[in-house]
Amino acid sequence: MVQPYKHEPFTDFSLEANQTAFKKGLQTVESYLGQDYDLIIGGERVTTEEKIVSINPANKEEVVGRVSKANRNLAEKAMQAAVKAFKTWKRVAPETRADVLFKAAAIIRRRKHEFSALMTKEAGKPWREADADTAEAIDFLEFYAREMLRIKDGVKVNSRPNEYNRYDYIPLGVGVIISPWNFPFAIMAGTTVAAIVAGNTVLLKPASTTPIIAAKFVEVMEEAGLPAGVLNFVPGSGSEVGDYLVDHKDTRFISFTGSRDVGLRINERASKLNEGQIWIKRVIAEMGGKDTIVVDKEADLELAAQSIVTSAFGFSGQKCSACSRAVIVEDVYDQVLSRVVELTNELTQGDPADLGNYMATVIDQNAFDKIMSYIEIGKEEGKLMTGGEGDSSKGFFIKPTVFADLTPDARIMKEEIFGPVVGLTKAKDFDHAIEIANDTEYGLTGAVITNNRVNIQKAREDFHVGNLYFNRGCTGAIVGYQPFGGFNMSGTDSKAGGPDYVQLHMQAKTTSEMY
Ligand code: NAP
Repeated sequence: MVQPYKHEPFTDFSLEANQTAFKKGLQTVESYLGQDYDLIIGGERVTTEEKIVSINPANKEEVVGRVSKANRNLAEKAMQAAVKAFKTWKRVAPETRADVLFKAAAIIRRRKHEFSALMTKEAGKPWREADADTAEAIDFLEFYAREMLRIKDGVKVNSRPNEYNRYDYIPLGVGVIISPWNFPFAIMAGTTVAAIVAGNTVLLKPASTTPIIAAKFVEVMEEAGLPAGVLNFVPGSGSEVGDYLVDHKDTRFISFTGSRDVGLRINERASKLNEGQIWIKRVIAEMGGKDTIVVDKEADLELAAQSIVTSAFGFSGQKCSACSRAVIVEDVYDQVLSRVVELTNELTQGDPADLGNYMATVIDQNAFDKIMSYIEIGKEEGKLMTGGEGDSSKGFFIKPTVFADLTPDARIMKEEIFGPVVGLTKAKDFDHAIEIANDTEYGLTGAVITNNRVNIQKAREDFHVGNLYFNRGCTGAIVGYQPFGGFNMSGTDSKAGGPDYVQLHMQAKTTSEMY
């Protein structure tokens, strides 16, 4: 009997026992640092000469692991393995497919701190952020398995006398899963298992900065009983392997999470018909954000400042949902700004393996350079209140940075920076604040801090984002509770962890029998 879904609780690290458990996780990870990992194609391990080297962003000298790198030939082999496995996997009962996910969730739960510690090393995630990522991965497994059980008999449609009509969901085929590094476990695993539990077979191409956590996850899925060929592991360069697989005639759908530009490129390439292709490829794309917290004049200003600071600087602002701008009604602007600066100055930063550090690094040199160049732009466009410095000598550390007095059309207020930088601007009144908040091509998350019910209703109707929060920060959606995904340039309007997500990987078939 399947228990009702409940999200995985976060670990309370104020308890010494939990601190000890996480440290043990770190030791386990340290015992296998620097190892090599293979591609997995049709259940076979494949080693290549060329490797992707994964390093610790807080200590560039530390190699987390080295992963074999797929080229076009190997990507083709993996595609053929997935095409073959689809013939049998699609016939496996939904209950059996769901069981693989339940078992994988149980394995991960038992090794929870090891997986979190691996993200501390590979992605620079401080303990609490890593713990939340692992919890979300478990949630996706538990939630999508139950979703498949819920929809396995289709949806009821009408039948007339002597007629038997059915409306069932059947899988699509082979999917290409392309995942980002910022939720290297949760998003990578969630997008993979939603496709698999629906009866599809997949090729998983993880982000090149975080392939080790993905390799460990693939091992778990094998241990949980997933048959060979259902999940093929093909780390490789986005532009080489990514393009090849997106273009492939046998690709039925692409599930992508990452930047706007890559998402648009995939969408465009996927729309081209290739020789031998007999379907229109489906693209599920979750892209960037320029997420805003709006502060009304009738509001808990301490809550406002806390929400801005935690949403802006958690995991160094490297969340698609991160608060990268705050729009504050002018009556309370100065008060909120000075408290935001105070709270920012209290944040601790350093090695993510040390529980005392709230913040650590950004992911790599490219990200470091890009964010530092935005900081230079910010200095021209607004007033630097705190931060603004970076040091990439040992790891990629950038101080939490606050810019004030920006105009709504400043680049800092328009473009996704994806780092620990937040811009503040003044609005004349609440309506003006919502207008500024909507003035972006993105539409992912947003929050409104207000005690005014009329304004809550106004924002509910007019603030155009996929995830809108009131009187809290704009990060931290929970699977099954706050289904997650954005509008406009933030993606294809899908909602991860929501009631129609698994169906996105399926097609509905109507059957009608006379008797
Ligand atoms: P990215 O640079 O777009 O990379 C994402 C994935 O796409 C990686 O696996 C990357 O591979 C691959 N890729 C690169 N070029 C490709 C190509 N030509 N064809 C196919 N695949 C290609 O994004 P990121 O830096 O990893 O992640 C940060 C971005 O993701 C931000 O914009 C953030 O807002 C967004 N995001 C959105 C959501 C959401 O739910 N809406 C969630 C998380 C993140 P390589 O690593 O090998 O380049």
